[in-house]
Amino acid sequence: MGKTLIIGAGGVASVVVHKCCQNSEIFEDIMIASRTKSKCDALKAKLENQTKTKISTAQVDADNVRGLVALIKDYKPEIVINVALPYQDLSIMDACLECGVHYLDTANYEPLDTAKFEYKWQWAYREKFEKAGLTAVLGCGFDPGVTGVFSAYAQKHHFDEIYELDILDANAGDHGYAFATNFNPEINIREITSNGRYFENGEFIETPPLSVKRVYNFPEIGEKDMYLLYHEELESLALNIKGIKRIRFFMTFSERYLTHLRVLENVGMTSIEPIDFEGKKIVPLQFLKAVLPDPASLGPRTKGKTNIGCIFQGLKGGKAKKYYLYNVCVHEECYAEVGSQAISYTTGVPAMIGAMMVLTGEWLKPGVYNVEEFNPDPFMEALNKWGLPWQENFAPDLVE
Ligand code: NDP
Repeated sequence: MGKTLIIGAGGVASVVVHKCCQNSEIFEDIMIASRTKSKCDALKAKLENQTKTKISTAQVDADNVRGLVALIKDYKPEIVINVALPYQDLSIMDACLECGVHYLDTANYEPLDTAKFEYKWQWAYREKFEKAGLTAVLGCGFDPGVTGVFSAYAQKHHFDEIYELDILDANAGDHGYAFATNFNPEINIREITSNGRYFENGEFIETPPLSVKRVYNFPEIGEKDMYLLYHEELESLALNIKGIKRIRFFMTFSERYLTHLRVLENVGMTSIEPIDFEGKKIVPLQFLKAVLPDPASLGPRTKGKTNIGCIFQGLKGGKAKKYYLYNVCVHEECYAEVGSQAISYTTGVPAMIGAMMVLTGEWLKPGVYNVEEFNPDPFMEALNKWGLPWQENFAPDLVE
């Protein structure tokens, strides 16, 4: 079937490549292209003797539309899976449009110099993709991604109306380091140190960073402290779940993690403002990234589970209903299967599935869409098949 260009060769890309190689019937031919070609070559060398998928590699600067266009014209993929960084979303979308290729990513566009994520920049491409007859799938990791598919599934099969949605993201994995982030530290810390935000009664309400704390007893994990964060899927779900009154997003953090983060923040290490250092401009957060453990190196050390899911409340047949839909993923099992920890795994598997949905025609719809705007059923089935089985609870504890 379709040729697929995968851009990026980091933690998430590695999982996408492994999963495409397990699914050779759909992904017969892939190209891995990234800034550092040696990382693409290493992935190819690891997998090419274990798969029927044909793998090639290339160097590309994904900030440069001309270079991307040349690469896409030469390789002629049907779809590009963008698992580089959010800063490259728009240049890759431009190149896809110019070359007539479908597009999928896992994180919405962020300008490099502002810690702000909004869909407006990518939604502005709707008409162009529609006119070109091309599909762009936005935010197809776990959160955003599976959380949107879960929402579409709950809406389709379990509710007449959903009033409240709490998205809960728990990571009980222990990597043994005093402080490390589970995915790109720069993106991760920008997200956590921003103001919290939730949706209520038609508007977004801001809260100071990490100021709203709850304790939740997670299935298979136990009690964890979790904090309200703003997360990008809130913006699209507030529009796409008709009648929704409140959406909140919570993520678990240990006291140790937060203490480190506070100190780093207090001394200015999480700033994205460039400073002069020995005659050179450096961005403190980028320097911090360089001294922190590489997320890809956490795989062999991380033990424990993640639990990410959605608690819905609403009405079905005139009666109040609660519904909790979640996935539990085991870090060690992910590592044994694809050599990555669960955070990369839970992002990479849905990206592969989303691309498969487009290539098989299940999610072929000209325009730019968030995942909850597609039929959730084939995706839900694929989650069970490809390593992220989901579980349901019809009487969950609610978040206060
Ligand atoms: P990594 O930092 O591990 O990998 C990013 C990759 O992109 C690296 O290989 C990097 O190259 C490459 N890259 C960066 N800039 C460019 C460029 N200009 N041109 C070409 N390649 C480039 O990040 P992750 O794998 O952890 O994350 C990938 C994406 O997944 C991010 O957008 C992140 O926000 C998203 N994500 C989404 C989640 C979800 O649930 N939706 C959860 C976790 C992550 P190099 O190797 O040279 O540095």
